[in-house]
Amino acid sequence: MGKLIILSAPSGAGKTTLVKYLLEEISELTFSISCTTREKRPNEVNGKDYYFISESEFKNKIQADEFVEYEEVYNGRFYGTLNSELERIWNQGKIVIFDVDVVGGVNIKNKFPTNSLSIFIAPPSLEILAERLKNRETETQDTLKTRVEKAELEMSYANKFDKILVNDDLEQSKKEIKSLVLEFIKSK
Ligand code: ADP
Ligand code: 5GP
Repeated sequence: MGKLIILSAPSGAGKTTLVKYLLEEISELTFSISCTTREKRPNEVNGKDYYFISESEFKNKIQADEFVEYEEVYNGRFYGTLNSELERIWNQGKIVIFDVDVVGGVNIKNKFPTNSLSIFIAPPSLEILAERLKNRETETQDTLKTRVEKAELEMSYANKFDKILVNDDLEQSKKEIKSLVLEFIKSK
């Protein structure tokens, strides 16, 4: 079994930005591609950002016990990590990096307590979170509201993670997260 790095945060806090940065900087890392039933965004690629599958395919995989973990993150929108995805990455001798919601992050940490590093990315405030989501231009008024409301509850999970990183100044956050991850990679 190899190592795992888990990044979780309320939507809009900056996980995707930081995961992409770590993947560019640290060649040992490979992104764990989740399955989801949500619609693909125009800039996303199937099999790269997510495996986009139907709800019935997703439910078949639940029945077949193929998931390490899965969540109905938003009403009717399922997200999950396949066991086969971890095997694929570890077989290449690489370290798995996850971008998952806070519940998924805690579940994965509990499943792999000794060989994982879990990092909670916190926004400086809920107001700033809402502003970042608006600027990203991926949300309707409705989904924006849902995501910000959910963020309040998600913030209460922060202390269940190994580390908390407040993503205020992006350049500073990049430096901090890179050093946390390199330290973990070097450790036994
Ligand atoms: P998440 O994956 O957590 O939903 P993203 O990485 O998509 O969040 O970030 C949300 C938006 O905020 C993006 O448009 C991103 O470019 C921007 N962003 C990320 N980090 C910062 C930061 N430190 N300061 C300002 N904007 C940021
Ligand atoms: P988005 O729709 O913005 O891509 O993702 C919504 C949320 O689902 C994010 O918080 C993201 O981290 C989370 N997510 C993505 N993949 C998984 C997964 O495999 N499991 C869980 N539990 N959450 C996931």
